[in-house]
Amino acid sequence: MQRWDAVVVGSGPAGSTAARELAASGARVLIVDRAEFPRYKPCGGGIALRTERLLAFPIAAVVETSVSLLQVRHEGTCVASRDARRPFARMVMRNGFDALLLDAARAAGAEFRANTHVVRVEEHANHARVIADGFEAAAAHVIGADGANSVVAKTTGLAQGMYECAAWELEVHVPPAVLASFSETCVLGLGYRPWGYAWVFPKEGRLSVGVVLPAGSGRQLRATADALIEELGLPDARIEHAQGHKVRSRRAHEPVASDRVALVGDAAGLADEFTQEGIFYAIRSGQLAAEAAMACMTGKPAPARYEASLDHEIMPELRAARLIGYMFYGMLRRFGGTWLRGSRHAGSLWESFFKAQRGDSTYARELARAPWLAKAAAARLDAR
Ligand SMILES: Cc1cc2nc3c(=O)[nH]c(=O)nc-3n(C[C@H](O)[C@H](O)[C@H](O)COP(=O)(O)OP(=O)(O)OC[C@H]3O[C@@H](n4cnc5c(N)ncnc54)[C@H](O)[C@@H]3O)c2cc1C
Repeated sequence: MQRWDAVVVGSGPAGSTAARELAASGARVLIVDRAEFPRYKPCGGGIALRTERLLAFPIAAVVETSVSLLQVRHEGTCVASRDARRPFARMVMRNGFDALLLDAARAAGAEFRANTHVVRVEEHANHARVIADGFEAAAAHVIGADGANSVVAKTTGLAQGMYECAAWELEVHVPPAVLASFSETCVLGLGYRPWGYAWVFPKEGRLSVGVVLPAGSGRQLRATADALIEELGLPDARIEHAQGHKVRSRRAHEPVASDRVALVGDAAGLADEFTQEGIFYAIRSGQLAAEAAMACMTGKPAPARYEASLDHEIMPELRAARLIGYMFYGMLRRFGGTWLRGSRHAGSLWESFFKAQRGDSTYARELARAPWLAKAAAARLDAR
């Protein structure tokens, strides 16, 4: 059996980032994925500028468009829009973006094995074992970056019982004139109960159209996406890759690391509950897990360090996003489109969102600007 310093399971943004950082620090790293790359991944492909800023290399080669205009629709009508004057997010197709991150990991020295479907991870006294169909490897550290249905989490008992919701995404091929009407524009559709939103993101030659709703909304997801296509006047457009996936969110201190295994990205439930964005947290947690594993290889205790750094850096941001989402959807349920129309006059709210997206601020910092509101919302949320 091959032995490695670290085996990373899953080469999405979290896994490729962890593998790159480990390999760049001199570790012998194997990264495995059940897929061949590039591979399709259902995703809006919205990369907040703060995510781009985390990376040590340019992503321009895979950026299809950038967005600087946010348009909000409620029950089919445009109720507000705001020009941020400069981009707050990049738009990518995940096949290109994820392949770029994997290439960076390989360039740093990580070895990649495709078509390797991991079925189990076992922890032993002095190593962990990664077991796939027809393949096994042993490592001092295993990083579970295998997404929201993580086999690494299931077979090690980590990251259980998290909050779940569901998202559905379609790639809609549209003529240039239609695409031009969405130029630099991120469209969000609101008004779903009890909460949820639809999105339209412009790419090259196509729109990414999708919906996120609470767990158990399987049928409603498809119907909502189809209604949105009608509403946009695109019933005859060619649709590719209509696919859904669950999104998991870590709300408290559910264990996501043990002596030899650390979960990152969606496997650890690191998606925020305001936008359901996960790529930022995937990349950052990959970096933190790699740092912790390297520290362990040099004699310091890793799992506590990884969970501690998550709890210090990522969890306050996820908590802030959850509180913002709770207040946002609460106002929306109570006052509907009227409240959204009124928000046109609350420029600072929009600016807070743009600043957090760009990484010039964080949700936690923006929330702290209204401490009494944050405290009241936290008390109500925690009492539920
Ligand atoms: C419809 C939808 C739209 C979204 N839109 C956005 C968005 O616009 N912006 C944003 O920031 N976030 C978005 N998200 C969330 C985002 O997609 C995830 O947070 C992100 O992909 C997490 O990255 P990851 O590396 O943790 O996992 P993934 O990207 O899911 O990668 C996991 C990898 O593990 C591999 N794998 C899985 N199981 C195994 C196994 N058993 N053995 C070997 N390999 C395995 C998979 O093949 C995959 O390559 C969206 C999510 C959904 C569902």
